[in-house]
Amino acid sequence: MTARRVALVSGGSRGIGRAVVTRLAEDGFDIAFCYHSRAEAAGETERAAAGLGARVVSRRVDVTDAGQCRDFVEAAEDRLGPVDVAVTAAGITRDKPLAMMDDAQWAAVLRTNLDGTYHVCRPVVERMVKRRSGTMVTVSSVAGVHGSAGQTNYSASKAGIIGFTRAVAKEYGRFGIRANTVAPGFIETDMTSGVTERARKKYLGQISLSRFGAPEEVADLVSFLVSDRATYITGQVLGVDGGLVL
Ligand code: NAP
Repeated sequence: MTARRVALVSGGSRGIGRAVVTRLAEDGFDIAFCYHSRAEAAGETERAAAGLGARVVSRRVDVTDAGQCRDFVEAAEDRLGPVDVAVTAAGITRDKPLAMMDDAQWAAVLRTNLDGTYHVCRPVVERMVKRRSGTMVTVSSVAGVHGSAGQTNYSASKAGIIGFTRAVAKEYGRFGIRANTVAPGFIETDMTSGVTERARKKYLGQISLSRFGAPEEVADLVSFLVSDRATYITGQVLGVDGGLVL
């Protein structure tokens, strides 16, 4: 029997991260995932992945804290073995027009989305380099590619993730490491549950497929990108947005 490979996912308790955890468990990965505070949701994710035959490590980690992320990566490798795949899905929004933005809203989004991606990827890449293999998928957004009104903090963090990921791909390609980013459009999760009916109608008019996406549709792309069917794909930003036209 071949050993299951290991995937580490940040923000795995809900939404896109949870869909990635369960999809990768289905693909045959053992899973280490972290979450911020929703232990009950994390428990549900854990049971779903374990039910698919994966060994699962779940941990409460604040990705804004570099030390906690380092400890998480170390614990994942101690319990499950070398991390082959890392997916950074932890993210938040704190929407405000720029003229009304306060420093705390700006900082929270940059710290969680951009610094959080760095904090998780940094110890993972250090280990992958030594093994000369590994693949990462970061989670950007259409907001990071095109900019989104009312979301200067979020758009900046997601644009930063694109630059970060492309730089990782260039820096570590010669070590057998691939890094790509996915840029989802509107996906049905808690993050978008607050969208008003009026705004939803407007957005639907901009989406070619005339619907929001499901987290599983993002997870399918991630599953492909970390697989052996994507061995010549690196440094890319892949949209999964139903043909959103901004
Ligand atoms: P979600 O349902 O709100 O889930 C967010 C996840 O991130 C949860 O697991 C949450 O943990 C975790 N998290 C938040 N802050 C954290 C922190 N400081 N430390 C560790 N974990 C933290 O969001 P989602 O819609 O699935 O979004 C996932 C990713 O996709 C985000 O990066 C988001 O920006 C991106 N994205 C989403 C959409 C969309 O339309 N939904 C579109 C484009 C991009 P708890 O459960 O413990 O709170």
